Amino acid sequence: MSSIAGKTAVVTGAARGIGKAICKKLAELKCNIAVVDVLAEDTEKTAAELSELGISAKPYQCDVSDYSAVQELFKKINDDFGKIEIVVNNAGITRDNLIIKMSEEEWDKVIAINLKGVFNCTKAATRPLMKNRWGRIINISSVIGVMGNAGQLNYAASKAGIIGMTKSTAKELAARNITCNAIAPGFIKTAMTDKLPETEKQKLENLIPLKRLGEPEDIANAVGFLASEEASYITGQVLIVDGGMVM
Ligand code: NAP
Repeated sequence: MSSIAGKTAVVTGAARGIGKAICKKLAELKCNIAVVDVLAEDTEKTAAELSELGISAKPYQCDVSDYSAVQELFKKINDDFGKIEIVVNNAGITRDNLIIKMSEEEWDKVIAINLKGVFNCTKAATRPLMKNRWGRIINISSVIGVMGNAGQLNYAASKAGIIGMTKSTAKELAARNITCNAIAPGFIKTAMTDKLPETEKQKLENLIPLKRLGEPEDIANAVGFLASEEASYITGQVLIVDGGMVM
């Protein structure tokens, strides 16, 4: 693989789970990393762990749903690192409920973080990425955005919206040598899926041809590839990483 060593990556929702695994993968590839999350303490801990891998990693506490805060955040990261080249929009939450019971607040919160958060970060990153004439935007969607799920109408809408945004961003920025792709994870072992009862996890494993839930590293490996030079002719795509569950 040609090297992306020395590139600056911004990863949101990076303190733990899939985001943290993505940071570790990009650190292995010798990228410098802006670790962004709402959780101050965990963000600092993750950035400190990454720094031990011999790259520059800095923690930034920010809520991706806050438009002004995100614009300031990207200015600060650009000043601190001198450039921004890779953006991984990973921050996301669930507030599950059946439509009949779903509150306006549950709808608004999920759309604000999962969907508007991606808009806020992509908009803030566009100018620095265009300046480089090289860039990678990788949006973490979900198989739920592709197939829908009872009890996750808000989450499915946000993740399907990310796919539309990914394709539009890809078309707008391609002329500047910036690619934008989405990854749609299946069920991955993190705090988000820890909430599922054991019987539900068993049922899911039976549905997955590879017979296991995914590891955060399975998603991180796909990010590593899409960020690489080898993926330079891939844009506007949705890469499903789910052990074969949706095909
Ligand atoms: P996770 O363990 O809950 O990690 C998500 C991280 O994002 C947490 O540190 C969280 O902080 C942070 N975050 C939440 N709201 C934020 C905000 N407003 N601004 C900045 N950071 C925020 O979840 P995960 O399983 O790693 O999921 C990562 C991404 O993958 C999400 O977009 C998720 O939808 C997607 N995904 C996950 C799965 C899965 O099976 N796990 C499947 C498909 C897609 P808090 O802890 O404070 O909330």
